Formats: sequence, structure tokens, C-alpha cells
Amino acid sequence: MVFRSFMDIALDEARAAAGRGEVPVGAVLVSPDGTVVARAGNRTRELNDPTAHAEILVIRAGCAAAGSERLPGHDLYVTLEPCPMCATALSAARIARLYYGAADPKSGGVAHGPRIFSHSQCHHVPEVYDGIDAQASEALLKDFFAARR
Ligand SMILES: [Zn+2]
Repeated sequence: MVFRSFMDIALDEARAAAGRGEVPVGAVLVSPDGTVVARAGNRTRELNDPTAHAEILVIRAGCAAAGSERLPGHDLYVTLEPCPMCATALSAARIARLYYGAADPKSGGVAHGPRIFSHSQCHHVPEVYDGIDAQASEALLKDFFAARR
């Protein structure tokens, strides 16, 4: 099977989030047969919900659609390295593969900080692929924060 990245859709969601005044992070959830199950950008401000990160929103939508608390075989694309909360949710949802864009040395929880997937308490570790379209993701974040200064 030919690898097809869904990061372009995640980047679209990140741009849409910036348009709403949200930190530009976007995520896409893809089912084992390659169908886009859910797509979302951050909505923490809109929903007054600190947990409304893009990853959490697609996991919630995917689980609701599947009628299950787990999403085995699913891939999750996100434009920025997941924070510790989202990394933990990814593990709990049994996501098979995580593809992310830019690294997040400040708030990331996969390659930085608590490195959630490297702990023995983490029962499910997804395959992780980083740096996917990282420059496009970084540029979005940089522009967003530069405009707010
Ligand atoms: Zn998060």
C-alpha cells in the first residue's frame, strides 16, 4: 500500500483554528481503511475548555462514531507534537500510529518533557513518526504568535 499523508488536512484545520483566534494546531483521525473519521483544530477558547485540543476533539468524535472507547488500527495526524494530556489520551484510545509535524520543546509530551510513551505505566505505545511537514506547521505557529505580540 502506498503511504498517503493526511497532514495537509491537519494543516488546513490548523489554519482554520488560527482564523478563530485559537492556537493553530490541527488533527485528523484516519480509520484502518484509510477513511478520514474526524478532523479538528484547537477550540479551547471557543469552548472555554482547556482540554479542547485538536487531538482530544478528533478522538472524542472518532470514539462517538465508533461507539467505542478504543480506536485500534487508527492513525492520528497532528501538526504539533502532542502535549502530555493528548499523548495519554492517544494511548488510552489505542491509536496505532501517531504522525506529527513540529516538535514542541516547551509543551510537548512525546519527545520532550514527560515523554509519556516511554513510561512503564503507559500500556499502549503507538508507532510515532515526527517531523511530517514540520516547517509548514512551525510557520503557522510563528506567524500566529508574532501577530499577537
Ligand atoms: Zn494536547
